[in-house]
Amino acid sequence: MDSLKNGEFTLSENSIKQDLSLLIQALDSSISGIILTDNQQPDNPIIYCNKAFEFITGYKRHEIIGHNCRFLQKEDRGQKERSILRKAVEDGAECVVEMRNYQKNGTLFWNELYMSPIKDEQGNVCYFIGVQNDITRRKKAEQELLHQQNIMESQIQERTKSLKESEDYLSSIVQTVRESLVVLNPEFEVLSVNDHFLKTFKVSREETEGKLLYELGNGQWDIGKLKELLENILPTNNPVEEFEVEHDFPHIGKKLMLLNAHRIELEGQYKDRILIAIEDITDRREIERRKDDFLSIASHELKTPLTTIKGYIQVMQRLLPDSVGDKLKEILNKTGIYVERLNSLIAELLDMSKIQTGNIELHKETFDFDKAIHEAVENMQAATKTHHIIIRGHATNNYTGDESHIIQVINNLLSNAIKYAPDSEEVQVYLSRVSNFLKVSVSDKGMGIKIEEQKKIFDRFYRVGEIQQRFPGMGIGLYVCDQIIKNHGGTLWVESEPGNGSTFSFTLPLDEGRFNEQ
Ligand code: ADP
Repeated sequence: MDSLKNGEFTLSENSIKQDLSLLIQALDSSISGIILTDNQQPDNPIIYCNKAFEFITGYKRHEIIGHNCRFLQKEDRGQKERSILRKAVEDGAECVVEMRNYQKNGTLFWNELYMSPIKDEQGNVCYFIGVQNDITRRKKAEQELLHQQNIMESQIQERTKSLKESEDYLSSIVQTVRESLVVLNPEFEVLSVNDHFLKTFKVSREETEGKLLYELGNGQWDIGKLKELLENILPTNNPVEEFEVEHDFPHIGKKLMLLNAHRIELEGQYKDRILIAIEDITDRREIERRKDDFLSIASHELKTPLTTIKGYIQVMQRLLPDSVGDKLKEILNKTGIYVERLNSLIAELLDMSKIQTGNIELHKETFDFDKAIHEAVENMQAATKTHHIIIRGHATNNYTGDESHIIQVINNLLSNAIKYAPDSEEVQVYLSRVSNFLKVSVSDKGMGIKIEEQKKIFDRFYRVGEIQQRFPGMGIGLYVCDQIIKNHGGTLWVESEPGNGSTFSFTLPLDEGRFNEQ
């Protein structure tokens, strides 16, 4: 009971006991471990601990009281936090540290210790109160986070390194290719060029990168066809392949360029960039032109003496007396055949060079198409003993075109069908009308042609690799046929399977108006 003594308000012993027990109950209810140490006794021993401290450390009260706190560190004495604690005790100051402590059974726990001095009325430090929280879980999470961060960091370093490597690798390829490469942004500003570009167009990187393409070198790249390509064709998102541009550059002269361009369809910083690969084909074209000139001159030069030889052979055949032996007659006949073969090879070369120079002349007239094909087949049949040529169907009796050219096509297809089917006996020719087109197909049961070769055989000088040695030829015939059919507004194509023969077909439009429109 509280009472008033000498005018002063004093506390009764009972009331003090009640307050103390309330205080102890309160301390025991705390989830933080709480200790009191007595600074006035040697080695600052623990004089009080609450229940949570017992729980956190695993020690019982009687194992705690009288000890210095350091027993919680067991052998782990190297922690730098100890000196912070020691200093705070010496200075009578407060401090917070996070330390590794060990429970009685040796289990590590992280202790967040808040230590604060309790002073008497004169300000002398008499006790310290220590409040402790087990922060092992937080510490573990922090350490785990740190560990993950380290892993991530090393992964990022690894990735950056490999990105850098691939960037170096790519850039070494880009710099090595023998094509000029230009990257533009959607506004046609040059973002980068490779060394080959600089070398070919004799410009420096500084005067190129960051400039608008059309303004490069005082507008020398302001090329109509290139503008058309970039502004009209590329936005359709179709890559542009083999686009030929000829331009006279002030410093380097006339250049023939083959452009391949496409819009880079990536997201992010590379979006909508335009990559242009420029191949300088000026020299290559010049060499091709010279080769064509040579072939044209050579075939012309060969043709004249050959015609004379052909004439002499005919005269000799006529003048040969009957008394002469069969042997000589046969020799003359064979010579005639080989001269004829040579003649048709030279004719092929001449045709080709005429096509190349655009000098092929069409002698358009109306003729009986079916009859002409039948005659051509008969002539071919007369010249071959190995194969039987069967002709079926009807196309038209009235066709307007260059008869000799059409016959040349059918002769070529027939002689190929015979040549490339040495083990079969039959060649079929089929004539038909499809809508307002006539169609002719020549089928053999020969070796056939692989799918990947089928497009190439219409290129000049192309011959399928494996037959080069076995069969004579120059790889010109189909090229000439294709051009002749195109000149008549038609299409020539092949359907074939290796080992199962080939069918070469062409269609020709029957409309007068469409003739020679391509
Ligand atoms: P050439 O017969 O002189 O080689 P062509 O231009 O007529 O030239 O033919 C080109 C190539 O196409 C031939 O070398 C051959 O490989 C292939 N070819 C043409 N016709 C046939 C066919 N009927 N069967 C199989 N291959 C063929």
